[in-house]
Order: sequence, then structure tokens, then C-alpha cells
Amino acid sequence: MTHCTNQDVLARLSIIYCLGLCLGAGAAGEPPVITPGRHGSPPSDAFVLFDGHDLSKWQSASGGKAKWKLGDGYMEVNPGTGNIVTKEQFGAVQLHVEWATPSVVTGEGQNRGNSGVYLQGRYEVQVLDSYHNKTYYNGQAGAIYSISAPLVNACRKPGQWQTYDIIFHPPHPWNGRIVDGSITVLQNGVLVEDHVTLIGKSTTAALFHGAVATGPLVLQDHGHPVRYRNIWLRKL
Ligand code: MG
Repeated sequence: MTHCTNQDVLARLSIIYCLGLCLGAGAAGEPPVITPGRHGSPPSDAFVLFDGHDLSKWQSASGGKAKWKLGDGYMEVNPGTGNIVTKEQFGAVQLHVEWATPSVVTGEGQNRGNSGVYLQGRYEVQVLDSYHNKTYYNGQAGAIYSISAPLVNACRKPGQWQTYDIIFHPPHPWNGRIVDGSITVLQNGVLVEDHVTLIGKSTTAALFHGAVATGPLVLQDHGHPVRYRNIWLRKL
């Protein structure tokens, strides 16, 4: 019978640890080669939700065709026609969205250029004209509505195109409990939400409730003619 000393055990554990380090990066295989986009255009592995030409990836929240207006390379909220919803469902994503609030400014606070990007139809990244327009902090542009105010106000002037780049991991059920999710948001290239925890509670006026593995992306009709273009995501 062979006896192992403590040194033997430590040596064997060290070898296993080193093997783990060496193999760890390769366990999932070689990272795929992709072609990145330029100036916000989709990389080669992106799922394009809107390229400026048609609403074929979208439907009305009430069913049937999405009724938002199509312009020259953009879509525009058609007030009163309701939210629009992707036909496909998504879990964790990297999402790119470009948006512009109306250049003709009307209203104030929440009543100025309001719309929203709802991950899984549950968690709203607020879209609002927050350029020289005060409102409650966790309801301004870049906020996770009612959950987290943005770190800074990075808004461009009304009418100008702005970007959201969002990293989203959904809260989801696992083994009889809800695993927390997270959301990170860059507005116009500036970090405004830094790995904010999501516990599975939907934000105000969400279309859907309850933590799930996958859900649709939803864009909000809040009654204002906000525009969107160049919407794509990568499944993570
Ligand atoms: Mg909104």
C-alpha cells in the first residue's frame, strides 16, 4: 500500500491546478474569428434587428404588424399604436441601439422625448430628452427606470443621434430560486450604468413580469415621436 505525504498531495494538486490553467482557456475551443463593425455598424456575428429598411423582425405588442413609421434609415414611434416587440426571444446579450428624441422640443420632465428600451420586455433603459431637462434621477435618460440613476448625464442635444451599448445578463430561475442578473450601459460611449444588479422585478410599465431565461426586446411608445436606427445584438 502506498502512503502519500502532505508534500505528495500538494505536488499533485499543483499539477492539477496548472493543467487547469493551461486547459481553461481552451476548454471552449479557440475563440471564433469575427469581423468587427465600423462606427457602430454590426459585427459579423450580430443579429440585426433593424437596419433602417423594414420592421420584419418586429410586431405590435397587441399582435399583428408593428405600426411604427419608417423614415429614411430610421423608424419612428407612431404615438398611440403601442409598444413594438421583437419576434425572437433573447437571454444574455450585447445590444446596440441608436435613438434620437424630437428636434422640436415640447413638454418637460417625463413628457419630453420619452421612450424606452426594455430588455426581455421587463427592464427599461430609459430613453428621454434629458438635455437641460430635469426629472427624477432614476427616470432620466440612461437610467434603469426606477432602479438606478445614470452615473452621469451624457445626453446630446434633442434631434441628434445617440447610442446605447448594453451588456445584459437576465435574472433567471435556477434550482428553485432566482439568480440575480446584471446590466451595464454606455451612452454615447460613456459608462452610465456599471454592472447594476437586477433581481427579477420588472421596471414600471413593463409588458412582462417574472424572471425568465429568454424574452423579447421591446421599444416603448410613450406618445412621443422618438426615432430609432441601427439596432443589433450579439447573443452572449
Ligand atoms: Mg420610457
